[in-house]
Amino acid sequence: NTPLHELDPDVAAAVDAELHRQQSTLEMIASENFAPVAVMEAQGSVLTNKYAEGYPGRRYYGGCEHVDVAEQIAIDRIKDLFGAEYANVQPHSGASANQAALFAIAQPGDTILGLDLAHGGHLTHGMRLNFSGKQFDVVAYHVDEAGLVDMAEVERLAKEHRPKVIIAGWSAYPRQLDFAEFRRIADEVEAYLWVDMAHFAGLVAAGLHPNPVEYADVVTSTTHKTLGGPRGGIILAKKEFAKKLNSSVFPGFQGGPLEHVIAAKAVSFKVAASEEFKERQQRTLDGARILAERLTQADVTEHGVSVLSGGTDVHLVLVDLRNSELDGQQAEDRLHEVGITVNRNAIPNDPRPPMVTSGLRIGTPALATRGFQAEDFAEVADVIAETLKPGFDAEALKARVTALADKHPLYPGLK
Ligand code: PLP
Repeated sequence: NTPLHELDPDVAAAVDAELHRQQSTLEMIASENFAPVAVMEAQGSVLTNKYAEGYPGRRYYGGCEHVDVAEQIAIDRIKDLFGAEYANVQPHSGASANQAALFAIAQPGDTILGLDLAHGGHLTHGMRLNFSGKQFDVVAYHVDEAGLVDMAEVERLAKEHRPKVIIAGWSAYPRQLDFAEFRRIADEVEAYLWVDMAHFAGLVAAGLHPNPVEYADVVTSTTHKTLGGPRGGIILAKKEFAKKLNSSVFPGFQGGPLEHVIAAKAVSFKVAASEEFKERQQRTLDGARILAERLTQADVTEHGVSVLSGGTDVHLVLVDLRNSELDGQQAEDRLHEVGITVNRNAIPNDPRPPMVTSGLRIGTPALATRGFQAEDFAEVADVIAETLKPGFDAEALKARVTALADKHPLYPGLK
């Protein structure tokens, strides 16, 4: 029973330093969040010791009576949360969920139609070095000049290539997708519609974003982004896909499920059904809108900073730095210097290479979880704007960041 600090001071020091980093800086990576302590407690529990290949009530190992309870709770809660007929809570990650989902509804060599990575799509939607790009025949759609998904192009490509699967979902896109239109196009060419709601699942759960479960054949998600749970993936679907999806996850791609993570997912799904969670997602949206508004004011845009699509309907803003003296890497580094963590992000038709980029992706979920209110988001937006201007005062801006971090303590009980 030796505690971590005694058994392995080196790893303990890294964990402590990371806690301090999270507490003392402002986390604005759009795909990150802070899991509740109860979620981390479940994830750090003895369930990590248990093998449970199979599904609740049908396992290949003995002694599964308790993990069966936790996994069934997770399944029931996530089905309720999104109104789904079927759920699989075993995927180890979002990418694992996507792999299992795609192989359940298509065969290697089939054509898939997804949003280009450089226009906001995800690796698993057909990037050439990913399984999806290597094993499937990929056709990509794009955003138009206004930065919006070009539905006319989706329809044209769907009719021309007759894909087996149309993928709707994104990692870097500031607007809502038109699921009804995707459904119509999918029906027209007899394709399956797969929605990857990894980024916006928390908004859907709160009723603040259209629910793709009502339109898609299969919906995948991560559980750790806006949804605010442990790192992991889930698959939701219509009942008719249940058998194929279950066997694609196990034994298709995975062995023993991570029952400690599944228990943690169950806890986070309970949280996601609460009024407090809804209120938090509303603050997440309000924060992103405030950020977009402040970053599009004249005193900011005169320095070559603008916001793709002119605003946001979701939890993130995409900053366009093509006309700024800063590239994505330099802007990310500057914000890091004042204590704000964001990621540089390629923007559509980016003139710079992917490791440098001309954009930033800035998200509000983690700060909303921390308790940030509209006035706090306004202050963060102003700090970001000042940091991106020439002649920024790093020390003064850092002090403003520290004041915000101190105002909303993170994990106050943890040291
Ligand atoms: N799908 C989308 C849309 C994502 O943005 C991401 C992660 O960024 C994933 C899937 C993959 O999730 P994970 O990193 O858990 O594999």
